[in-house]
Amino acid sequence: MRQRLLARREWKTADMVDKCYFCKGKLSKVFTTIDYRWGDRLFVIEDVPATICQQCGEKYLDSQVYKELERMARCEEPPLTRVTVDVFEYKQGESLSCGT
Ligand SMILES: [Zn+2]
Repeated sequence: MRQRLLARREWKTADMVDKCYFCKGKLSKVFTTIDYRWGDRLFVIEDVPATICQQCGEKYLDSQVYKELERMARCEEPPLTRVTVDVFEYKQGESLSCGT
């Protein structure tokens, strides 16, 4: 079985930034949906307090929030709901099943 690329996303913590690390855009506090990878599992967590760049949309989380996400993933809280996600392998230059 091929190793799937599930690199854990490196979050920049919101504690340290007062403007966007990437584009220097303005940041604002929002509640948002975060997709979070823990091992080979993907969690989607709603209503997470985050700081978001108004310009490029990059999300920043407080280190405390990040710890809470990790804690939730680790103790396998019963989920609110479950979604099915289609996973694809990237194909270049091959004809696809729809004929294009
Ligand atoms: Zn930005």
